[in-house]
Amino acid sequence: MATLGNRKNTSEIIQKYQFDFRKKFGQNFLIDNSILDKIVEAADITRQDCVLEIGPGIGTMTQRLAEEAGEVVAVEIDKNLMPILEETLAGYDNVTVLNEDILKVDIHQIVADHGGRPIKVVANLPYYITTPIIMTLFESHVPLKSVTVMVQKEVADRMQVGPGTKDYGALSLAVQYYAKPEIITRVPAACFMPRPNVDSTVIRLTRYEKPPVETQDEEWLFAVIRASFNQRRKTLANGLANAAGLGVNRQQVEGVLAEMGLSATIRGETLTLERFSELSDRLLTARAAGRF
Ligand code: SAM
Repeated sequence: MATLGNRKNTSEIIQKYQFDFRKKFGQNFLIDNSILDKIVEAADITRQDCVLEIGPGIGTMTQRLAEEAGEVVAVEIDKNLMPILEETLAGYDNVTVLNEDILKVDIHQIVADHGGRPIKVVANLPYYITTPIIMTLFESHVPLKSVTVMVQKEVADRMQVGPGTKDYGALSLAVQYYAKPEIITRVPAACFMPRPNVDSTVIRLTRYEKPPVETQDEEWLFAVIRASFNQRRKTLANGLANAAGLGVNRQQVEGVLAEMGLSATIRGETLTLERFSELSDRLLTARAAGRF
């Protein structure tokens, strides 16, 4: 069947099924073949790969993925898209479509059901849940090689910046703990139907085999990072001492900062991942020993 990656063919299929775009599902379909080429090329897919696509929409990218990959599993929440996908993917015997919510489905089970090898995730993500999707993929330790995704431009910037900039925060640190981020291409709003209000970016996150820093307790590290950025306009010490779940008091926070040669008024956005790892390890020890 004809490629869907243009305005005419996308409109035709939308009209044929009288499909109503649902804003609440972040439905902005790609209508630009050259962007599809760039995404598929950046994802570096071979016949050996099993690809997980999140939100196939009408199947525009799914068709391309199916042509390159050994297998594609596409998880789509909107049941109204199921008959459309049945038609647009009819020519491919290596695609499985699951009518599920990606935040609820058991991704470990999907991987196990499809050969158990580390997957490559490729998606034009629904923007309203970009961060939870990325965090779920990494924090659940699903075996994966890379995540190549279209996201809102500002979110891509946040994923790849270093300390000392306004965009740097918990998302930057989490992504950079698990993966190497690389911007692939900027994508103007005109490449989608309907046109979104924001510009987009394709970013590739290549999973590290081993995180770049060692930490005593990964969950604790991320609890510390989140608390440090909770009160963006306030100091890191305030964020940590006020975080109910952490169970560290102000003296402990200030004591550890002093041990590290850091000022009590330092802000989270100035610390590297290495320093956060050191801070969280020291806080863990101070809390366990009831120090300061
Ligand atoms: N891949 C298509 C494309 O590039 O044209 C569609 C991309 S569109 C930005 C996002 C897609 O994700 C929509 O099809 C939407 O219905 C789907 N989606 C939204 N929330 C979802 C969720 N929680 N789980 C699975 N799919 C979801």
